[in-house]
Amino acid sequence: MKKYKSRAVKVGPYFLGGDNPVRVQSMCNTDTRNVSETVKQILALEKAGCEIIRVAVPDMAAAKVIGKIKKRIHIPLVVDIHFDYKLALECVSQGADKIRINPGNIGSREKVEAVVKACKAKKIPIRIGVNVGSIEKDLQAKYGPTPKAAVESALRHVRILEDLKFHDILISIKFSDVPQMVEGYRLLAKKVNYPLHLGITHAGTSYMGTMKNAIGIGVLLHEGIGATIRVSLTADPIEEIKAGFGILSALEKRKVGPELISCPTCGRTEIDMISLTGKVEKALVGIKKPIKVAVMGCVVNGPGEAREADIGVAGGKKMGAIFVKGKVIKSVPENKILSELLKEIRKIV
Ligand code: SF4
Repeated sequence: MKKYKSRAVKVGPYFLGGDNPVRVQSMCNTDTRNVSETVKQILALEKAGCEIIRVAVPDMAAAKVIGKIKKRIHIPLVVDIHFDYKLALECVSQGADKIRINPGNIGSREKVEAVVKACKAKKIPIRIGVNVGSIEKDLQAKYGPTPKAAVESALRHVRILEDLKFHDILISIKFSDVPQMVEGYRLLAKKVNYPLHLGITHAGTSYMGTMKNAIGIGVLLHEGIGATIRVSLTADPIEEIKAGFGILSALEKRKVGPELISCPTCGRTEIDMISLTGKVEKALVGIKKPIKVAVMGCVVNGPGEAREADIGVAGGKKMGAIFVKGKVIKSVPENKILSELLKEIRKIV
């Protein structure tokens, strides 16, 4: 299959697109005007690994605090603006790293030109974000709420920027329906070579939302489509970051932190695998090194199945055999498994 290759666009310290790593982003759910709450959330997201953060800018009061927020955080700050070009201009002057605005919704050509001029001067990109629920009436009438309509809508916005010789563009087209999302981005990838921001919109709560995002984003990333991802969930944004890295890690797009391999358990299991695996997962939080840890139910298949793991345990009759690189190094009683495992892990991280 021919892999999609986009141009690269710079957002803060990162290049998005080209051969650069896929970056994980999220969006604050605080009131942007509440600087301390917003900064607090961003710092927590940074700690969880968030690489780019977006905040809503619904009015001038929010636009005016962008500089204050930016001073206290360490990752690129993206502002989400609808319609009002004055908000865009204010955010650019406040030091925003990227603007999400649809040029077709700004109004007169002069207003679009003013935004483009400001972005060019500060070398910041614009993301066009089309949502299938809010595309232009004529496209709705012609194509219905379809991938084709969303792509046509995105291309209209793109042309406005290209006419002004502005090419630092990223694009997203969002759907809440996974097959439509995949079809839409595939279609878009045939028409443009700008880096694409992937996500499923209104995906739902942690469980189903993660499923939908993982499938939609996963299929596209596997085809080489996608420069940055946002897993939108009706949940704490920290969950979005965890899910985002989980997707990248499962696809082996980025080696980020430890990978936990665990067996589904079966009639051979003689230790409390579910509790042990949960505790190991918790203990791995915060480790940055991309190690593989295996928690397996039995010595018959455990070490062999987890041959690739750096450290692991294979359960036996109320005991566990600790193994390193697939070789058993010692056996311990069940109540000592966790501490022994963590001791071995600490030696290599
Ligand atoms: S590793 Fe052992 S306990 Fe776990 S599923 Fe396989 S056979 Fe069953």
